[in-house]
Amino acid sequence: MKFKNIAALFSSALIAVALVACGGGAGSTNSQGDANSGKKTYVIASDNGFAPFEIANADGTYTGIDMDLMDAIAKDQGFSYEMQNVGFKMAVSSLEAGQVDGVIAGMSITDERREMFDFSDPYYDSTVCCAALADSEINSLEDLKGKNVAVKDGTMSQSWAESIKDQYGFTTTTFKDSPKMYQEVGGNSVACFEDTPVMAYSIKQYKATDGKEGVNLKIIGEVSPDDQYASQYGFAVKKGQNAELLDKFNAGLANLKKSGKYDEIVNKYLK
Ligand code: GLN
Repeated sequence: MKFKNIAALFSSALIAVALVACGGGAGSTNSQGDANSGKKTYVIASDNGFAPFEIANADGTYTGIDMDLMDAIAKDQGFSYEMQNVGFKMAVSSLEAGQVDGVIAGMSITDERREMFDFSDPYYDSTVCCAALADSEINSLEDLKGKNVAVKDGTMSQSWAESIKDQYGFTTTTFKDSPKMYQEVGGNSVACFEDTPVMAYSIKQYKATDGKEGVNLKIIGEVSPDDQYASQYGFAVKKGQNAELLDKFNAGLANLKKSGKYDEIVNKYLK
């Protein structure tokens, strides 16, 4: 009798231990991580229109490669975050001002930016290009002579445009975001400058949806992958701060690459 009771006690104690272990296991990396860092929810800033990295949906939500990557990395590493899609330049200046913890926005890793920010391991290779209306007579950079082009504020493609504008004899008008810049082409600008994967995506979308989505442009010039304006995208934190978040991002990214989840995310948008 006594024996039985002890056995029963023992086994219910085991069950209790098992329950605690379960509760404290898989599902709890999140809350434990939060408890350790004082329940911190990281604030991440991003672009407001840079498909397929940031896709603005009609209902006000955002999807895209960067959004899915951040989500998968946060889940993998057990941290919580809040995403603010404020536009590229605003995202970068908010990070510079220490108002947000990180930026994921198809942001190119450059030596100049490394003076202000620490970058994660690179997660995507990119170049920059110039695009004109598909049915226009503008077919090369030489055709931009005496014309105006649209550029996006604070970007690599803007830097490329500014670096060659005297050589090709064009002027530039600056826009805050990619969608507004694309709209300008065919208006006061004959072409725009943009990251190639992003421009190529919108052009492909246009063809695939019979003009319902995307833009009716054609790429008329592009830098080579070894050019100084080619780049790799990275997640950024303010220099010397949030090393812990950067480590988590890198660890999560490595896990996603290993598990095939990274390829799954990229292929979902870029096939
Ligand atoms: N990759 C470019 C840069 O970092 C553009 C980024 C963007 O427009 N979101 O300058």
